[in-house]
Amino acid sequence: MSLLVVGTVAFDTVRTPFGVAEKILGGAGTYASLSASYFGVKSRIVSVVGGDFPQKHIDLLKSRNVDLEGLEVVPEEKSFFWEGEYHNDMNSRTTIATEVNVFEKFEANIPAAYKESDYLLLGNLHPAIQNSVLEQMTKRPKLVVLDTMNFWMDNAWDDLLATIRKVDVLAINDEEARQLSGEYSLLKAARTILTMGPKFLVIKKGEHGALLFSDDDIFFAPALPLEDIFDPTGAGDTFAGGFIGFISKTGDLSFENLKRAVIYGSAMASFTVEKFGTDRLIDLSDEEVSERLQKFLTLTKFDIQL
Ligand code: AMP
Repeated sequence: MSLLVVGTVAFDTVRTPFGVAEKILGGAGTYASLSASYFGVKSRIVSVVGGDFPQKHIDLLKSRNVDLEGLEVVPEEKSFFWEGEYHNDMNSRTTIATEVNVFEKFEANIPAAYKESDYLLLGNLHPAIQNSVLEQMTKRPKLVVLDTMNFWMDNAWDDLLATIRKVDVLAINDEEARQLSGEYSLLKAARTILTMGPKFLVIKKGEHGALLFSDDDIFFAPALPLEDIFDPTGAGDTFAGGFIGFISKTGDLSFENLKRAVIYGSAMASFTVEKFGTDRLIDLSDEEVSERLQKFLTLTKFDIQL
């Protein structure tokens, strides 16, 4: 089984009510591939960084068994940089800066060895790039998951619709689902979006959990109430990496198994938010992951006789 992740590998500066972390390792591709690495799958990452990207970050990704053949380094350019500030509720944030830098000319050239990957996660990028990745694959992956954001709905609507049409799972947040569908009710939004191509829709609701929809079924996973939330950055990408990592490991595309994947994704995301950046995601033990999953079971288990 093989997993291809396409997404940003970046520097982030994160401001929260608990402090500031400057120019730390971030990027959607980083979070997703680190998260997937806990499922015994070697994720192949396709991304680009500048000459300012330190060897220690590369070493960290390697230490988590991430395949970096597809990570291009452009020495004369700077890496993607994002800066955001979280408000007191830790659920909403303002983007202070997005410096695309080396991503301005990013073409997502997929190495030959990656073109037959079994699973594909298309992280948040211009939909035309996401589409070009799909077109470069010489074998249709068993499952393609796509993440996107409002920005592309505002600026690349036609490209986005053309790309969404080709994927199996769309993973977006509630606000994005509303914008994409033009519906306020998430149920109606899901029905509309499922006519646009994807077989499954995941709606991420931050600290309020995640919903999984197919034409016939709905599943809801809560987010765990946590003692410490330091930095929600990357939670959505960690979720996506855990979700597709679990599916890659099990190879089962049934709705029942996708429900489990939502729980695994949510469990991984619950770790990410506990520390700044990727700090909590680099050396989790199997026991810690199992304990988290047990908490989900306990939290959602109840007994009603009807
Ligand atoms: P999330 O908190 O799941 O929305 O993901 C945040 C991560 O996405 C950060 O580590 C950023 O480096 C990265 N990011 C922020 N803006 C963009 C963008 N426009 N395109 C791609 N990646 C981004």
